[in-house]
Amino acid sequence: MILMKDITRDGDPVLRKEAAKVSFPLSEEDQKLADDMMEYLKVSQDPELCKKYGLRAGVGLAAPQVGVSKMMAAVLVPAEEGAKSPFTDVIINPVIISHSVQSGALTEGEGCLSVDKEVPGFVPRHDRITLRYQDTKGETHKVRLKNYPAIVCQHEIDHLHGILFYDHINKDNPYEVSDDTIMFE
Ligand SMILES: [Zn+2]
Repeated sequence: MILMKDITRDGDPVLRKEAAKVSFPLSEEDQKLADDMMEYLKVSQDPELCKKYGLRAGVGLAAPQVGVSKMMAAVLVPAEEGAKSPFTDVIINPVIISHSVQSGALTEGEGCLSVDKEVPGFVPRHDRITLRYQDTKGETHKVRLKNYPAIVCQHEIDHLHGILFYDHINKDNPYEVSDDTIMFE
């Protein structure tokens, strides 16, 4: 089971590397990695287990964050009451094939399991994306995501290209975003 001690932290060169594409069928090792990453998210979202194992709750975890430089990330955005759309899968070799001109950002800013300190500021991203990825069976999916799940996937895909969320924050005006940016929780 992945614990906080297994999470690579900012400063580790693996977080700044371009990850390698994953080939199919998945090796046993890659399948286990996919399972372990998704398990971490599930356990971390259970308040009792999260506390028991000393985890930080997460909705996404990318392979470089556990020291493996491969194009794989687990995403678990649970269904909530109301309008928020869920998205759960292990996304492999993901590519954003198109995106909205409209930007979106979280009112709370973003956090990351690999970044121990809070970095204040808005993180402007695409509000809507069309994402192509392979699942663990090698099947290709093309999904359209908007708002929160779109932001989570962009954050995770960034990890596969050596980018961290705070790279997107305007250094002079951390809370400045373009007028047409949709802000949401
Ligand atoms: Zn992150």
